[in-house]
Amino acid sequence: MLDINKIRTDFPILSQKVNGKPLVYFDNGATSQKPQVVIDAISKYYQEINANIHRGVHTLSQLATDAYENSRGKLQNHINAKFAHEVLFTSGTTHGINLVANGFASILKPGDEVLVSALEHHSNIVPWQMLCEKTGATLRVIPMNEDGELIMSEYDTLLSDKTKIVTVNHISNALGTVNPIKYMIDKAHEVGAAVFIDGAQAVPHLKPDVQELDCDFYAFSGHKMCGPTGTGILYGKEAWLNKLPPYQGGGEMIKEVTFEKTTYAELPHKFEAGTPNIAGGIVLGTAVDYMNEVGFENIQQQELELLEYGTQRLLEIKGLKIFGTAAAKTSVISFNIEGIHPYDIGTIIDKLGIAVRTGHHCAQPVMNFFCIPGTIRASFAFYNTKEEIDVMVEAIKKAQLMLS
Ligand code: PLP
Repeated sequence: MLDINKIRTDFPILSQKVNGKPLVYFDNGATSQKPQVVIDAISKYYQEINANIHRGVHTLSQLATDAYENSRGKLQNHINAKFAHEVLFTSGTTHGINLVANGFASILKPGDEVLVSALEHHSNIVPWQMLCEKTGATLRVIPMNEDGELIMSEYDTLLSDKTKIVTVNHISNALGTVNPIKYMIDKAHEVGAAVFIDGAQAVPHLKPDVQELDCDFYAFSGHKMCGPTGTGILYGKEAWLNKLPPYQGGGEMIKEVTFEKTTYAELPHKFEAGTPNIAGGIVLGTAVDYMNEVGFENIQQQELELLEYGTQRLLEIKGLKIFGTAAAKTSVISFNIEGIHPYDIGTIIDKLGIAVRTGHHCAQPVMNFFCIPGTIRASFAFYNTKEEIDVMVEAIKKAQLMLS
């Protein structure tokens, strides 16, 4: 069991007031808050070992390089990758998706198919659309049902020897659905397709095991899991990363450069052109240590309680409808109130110190499916409490009275 009051003291922002009211932060799906250890580690890096990495023979450069590579090792252990060089530092999930989609331009031919799901964030749609435009491949969509679950029978029929890559999120940001990715990976492999998993919304809640999943790629962002913004990881199986061309050219990613021909560095450097976010990469390791110390079992238990309590309390509100009622769901509640625009609720409760996300959540196809412009999304983290849910519910009731 977590001592939530103690955990909350790890996050200085949580004791702030916003608009004169104690902050209730329920926008964790957009980005998580940062514990003091993470904030301190950023300063410590700049105060003590700031230098460029992989380049200098001088002591600071070596210390910074060691810290950066040590962090890569932590991330490797965290997701159980076979090799450290399968773990690429990126600026976030979007970067990871673009890197792979760009690489597949050298593989796909007209007539090939890319499968995406109806539940994706725009980041996991647009790069694949661009890839299809470039190569003449076809984008096909795995549909979902009214509960916000992907329809596996339809997925099975969409798969064929034309399918070259399947790309799907582990957990949906718009609805919180946990997708059956193990099943989907195994099925895709039966037809010889690669599988890309967008883990952006999964890593704040669970520890993915990429070898057990047997996914070909798994991408996530550091900022959603207590780490700094502008950080992320792209895991790729060694064979795939060796097969794909570099994404960007520049320093760090080369073996030898002449005007006639350039040869590329070995993994992971082949995909890490230019000076990276060194402090960010190092501190992402600190964030992972912090989350492992809290413990993912504890995190899940607390978040499940919040999901159940929040669902029950919100459903007390007259005219409130929850979108996304999948059996497998994480601590995200997307909802609307009859006759009221989500933006109006979001704006009023913000005045009461409550941060929720309103809008299409970068998932317009999901909103189109439900024929709505957007929802109000409350996304809970392990440092949230039932008391905060009570505050939100009362605030929504107040807003509803004002607006009706
Ligand atoms: N995929 C999903 C499911 C997301 O929720 C997000 C961000 O909200 C992204 C991708 C993009 O992440 P980032 O903006 O950190 O690159």
